[in-house]
Parts: sequence; structure tokens; C-alpha cells
Amino acid sequence: MSKITMKKNEMPCQEAADRKTNFNEVALGYSEEVALNEADRCLECKKPKCVEGCPVEVAIPDFIKLIKEKDYKGAATKLKEKNNLPAICGRVCPQESQCEAKCILSKKGDPVGIGRLERFVADYELNLDEIKEVEKIPSTGFKVAVIGAGPAGLTAAGDLAKMGHEVTVFEILHVAGGVLMYGIPEFRLPKNVVQAEIDYIKKLGVKFETNAVVGKATSVDELLEDGFDAVFIGTGAGLPYFMNLPGENYNGVYSANEFLTRTNLMKAYKFPEYHTPIKVGKRVAVLGAGNVAMDAARTALRLGAEESYIVYRRSEAEMPARHEEIEHALEEGVKLMLLTSPTEFHGDEDGNLTGMTCVKYELGEPDDSGRRRPVKIEGSEHHVEVETVVVAIGQGPNPLVTSTTPGLDLNERNGTIKADERGITSKSGVFAGGDVVTGAATVILAMGAGKQAAQAIDEYLRNK
Ligand code: FAD
Ligand code: SF4
Repeated sequence: MSKITMKKNEMPCQEAADRKTNFNEVALGYSEEVALNEADRCLECKKPKCVEGCPVEVAIPDFIKLIKEKDYKGAATKLKEKNNLPAICGRVCPQESQCEAKCILSKKGDPVGIGRLERFVADYELNLDEIKEVEKIPSTGFKVAVIGAGPAGLTAAGDLAKMGHEVTVFEILHVAGGVLMYGIPEFRLPKNVVQAEIDYIKKLGVKFETNAVVGKATSVDELLEDGFDAVFIGTGAGLPYFMNLPGENYNGVYSANEFLTRTNLMKAYKFPEYHTPIKVGKRVAVLGAGNVAMDAARTALRLGAEESYIVYRRSEAEMPARHEEIEHALEEGVKLMLLTSPTEFHGDEDGNLTGMTCVKYELGEPDDSGRRRPVKIEGSEHHVEVETVVVAIGQGPNPLVTSTTPGLDLNERNGTIKADERGITSKSGVFAGGDVVTGAATVILAMGAGKQAAQAIDEYLRNK
């Protein structure tokens, strides 16, 4: 075997100067030659640590071995044994803190580019129409309602359909996909990739009812009375948190949810071709430093902002966003305003935002999360001129379904549903998973929860 290189093969990307003027995908994907080269770096460890790092335990060395053998279809099939949405996970999973963090090569150099290889294989399969045809599965006669068409709901629906159950997904928006469609921008996750994965789930026989507001038009109890044998709740955590500061109502202060939904789902960046407009000032401040904040700051540049700032109370080391997202944001010209947080927003007589008062922080002792606590520096008040603020400090579950479902126990602290690791809730026949249980988390964790719940629902139905 040739000597292993310790550097991961670079991901080809659109140049930063070009990409910040368009919404096309930034990362272009490995070519076959590069993928083969990267696959060759895998040592095929006898006890592969990478698998332990993957929340759905994809057989990583096995699918990489199939790439080495140029059996890309086989590699895709291997991936899909555990992961229904590999083209999505290959693009957005935080691999650096999951599978790649455990790869043996990361002790001496770069880990194998597991996510990049996953994307390569999944994209290869997406371009092959014939393999997406699915066999008709005989029906068990059981009917399951899935509420919410995000990664948790889609995974549960796909797995339940493969088990022969009749599944209907109820989705409040006019399209399926959840955050994958309305939150994560096109330049990071093209919507045709998400749609292809949804189409595959439709081919499995899953029915979709969009514009279906569960908790208003119908309720969980009504679904159970109307002939569904079980219900899975995967309604996510789409309710934005605000800072509750004076002036937060000025025009120009958005929640990240609204800002990104207008842009991604309603295609505001194509206004007037699409009907929803979006107004972005010359200077934009995004409050927060997670993936959502990075997406908002990078979107602001693409919508024409001259300056786009990430305003964060801690330092760069504590920023929770994926490394790659921070790197891409900085390359595109997003600026960091660290150890800083606003205390008040200001506006003109027409109610439009003109700026904010900010204070500076320094880092003290670690808090419960293990991160160093930001401590306010007295007398550090200063004015920052901005015309747009995007609040991206987190989100929690929308209470529409939970508040209309008697007998469903919730966590008092944040309104998430109490469910065990298999998605079993306090209410018979009702299962839950994804962000509505964990609070805002990741795509792969939501998918893992959907998978576990599908198993639990199947057992429940067969014992009914
Ligand atoms: P969601 O994706 O939120 O889906 C819930 C669905 O339920 C939605 O379609 C919603 O419309 C629907 N719904 C809600 N209420 C009702 C109702 N009453 N009736 C019917 N339907 C309803 N994770 C990563 O791993 N990597 C990333 O890079 C990443 N980036 C992100 C960027 C942004 C901007 C955001 C917001 C999140 C990001 N995440 C990322 C987190 C990840 O997207 C979520 O953890 C994941 O989508 C949760 O899946 P879910 O299925 O639980 O919920
Ligand atoms: Fe390959 Fe790294 Fe997994 Fe070992 S730990 S099997 S080298 S990806």
C-alpha cells in the first residue's frame, strides 16, 4: 500500500468573491479521481472508531471500501442501510465533532473526509434514476400519521413505509422538508437535493398533506379517532427566541427564522419574479454564532449588504457553528464582533432601525456548559450603526401541537416533549422525536430519532 497522506483532499469550492454574489452551492463536490484518492486514505480499521462517532452508525469503512472498488452504487446502498438522507448528511452533518473526530488518522493529521465521500456517493446515486425505483411493499393495514416533514418526520415516514405501514405526513408549510427547505440556504444545501430525497420517500408510498395545521385544523386526538393507529410528532423547534431588549420591534429587526424563510422558502432573493420581498440594509448585524447565525450573515451578503457582522458575547473558540461554515463566512467577508452584545436598539421617527447600543465582555470562569462565562465590562457601552439586525440566538418548539394534546408530558423548562430514546411519550400511541424532543440540535440526530421511533411504532402496532 502506498504511504498514506495526512492531508484530507480539499473540497473544490466556488471562489469567495464570486459566490457571495450568488445563491449557488458553494462546495462543488469531489470528482471521481479525488474521491478515489480520499477513499484510499482509509485504513479499514478492524475496530473502526468512526462508526461509534456516527449517531446512526453508518458502516463507514464498508462504504469507503466499496468506493475503492469503484462500486459506487453498492456504496450508496450500504450507506442507505442506516442513513435515508445521505446527500443531505454529507453536506450538513457536523462531521468534525462526530465520525471524523473519532477517525484514527485525526491523531496525527486530517481524518478521512467521511462526509465528503458520503456526499460523493449519494450524489452519484441521485444521478442514477433507475436505482431509485422501489418494490411495492405489501400493506400491514396499519395507518400512521406523521406530523412535520423535517428530517425526523421524513425518516420515520420512510422507515414505516418500508415496514409496510400506510403513512400520511401532515405538514404546516406548503412544501415538505422542514429546516432543510426553509432554513438551510440553497448555497449550502440545494433544494433539488432535498426534493430528490423527498421524492424517494413518496415513491415508498408515503402520502403528504401540506398546508395542514395540526393543532388547529385537526388535532392528535382527532387523528387517532379518525383511523390512524399511531402518531409520530416531529414538529421541530421553529419558534424563535428574542433578546427582549428595548427597540426590538423596530422595522429591520428580524428573527433568523423569518429572514431565512423569506429568502429560502419564499425565494425573496428572486423578487419580483417571486412575490416575497426582503429589505436588507447596508450594515447587517447577526446576533449569535451558531450555524443559523452563519447562514443568516452569509445570506445578508448575498442579498446586497456591504457589511455583515456576527455579534457574539464570547470569543471565536466558543462559536458553536461548524468549522467549515465559520471558515466560509470569513472568506466571504463576514466580520466578527466578538465579546460584544447589544443592550438596546435605536430607530428613526418612521420606526426604522438605525443602530444599537452594545457592551463589551471578557471571559470569566467556565459555566454549566463548560464554556467560559462572558462577564460584562462596566462602562464599555458604545454605538454600532446598523440598518438590519437578525436575531439568531436559538429557538424552541412551537406549542401548537403540544398544547392541544392532553396527556402528553412536556419538559417545563423549554416545552420540549418528554420521550425516551425510542420516541415513546406519556400518551399511548403517540411517539415523538427530533428537535421537538431534544430542543434545537442536528439533522442526523433528528433522523436517528425518527429511525428509533419507527421501530418502536412498528412494535407497538404489531402488539396492538
Ligand atoms: P424541522 O426540520 O424543524 O421540521 C419540523 C417540521 O414540522 C417543519 O416542516 C414544520 O413546518 C413542521 N411543523 C411544525 N409545526 C407543525 C404543525 N403544527 N403541524 C404540521 N406541521 C408542523 N443541523 C445540522 O446538522 N447541520 C447544519 O448545518 C444545520 N444548519 C442549520 C441551519 C439553520 C438555519 C437551522 C434553523 C437549523 C440548522 N440545523 C443544522 C439544525 C437542523 O436543521 C435541525 O436540528 C433539524 O432540521 C431538526 O429536524 P426536525 O425534523 O426535528 O425538525
Ligand atoms: Fe477509515 Fe478513519 Fe474509520 Fe479507520 S477510523 S475505518 S481510517 S474512516
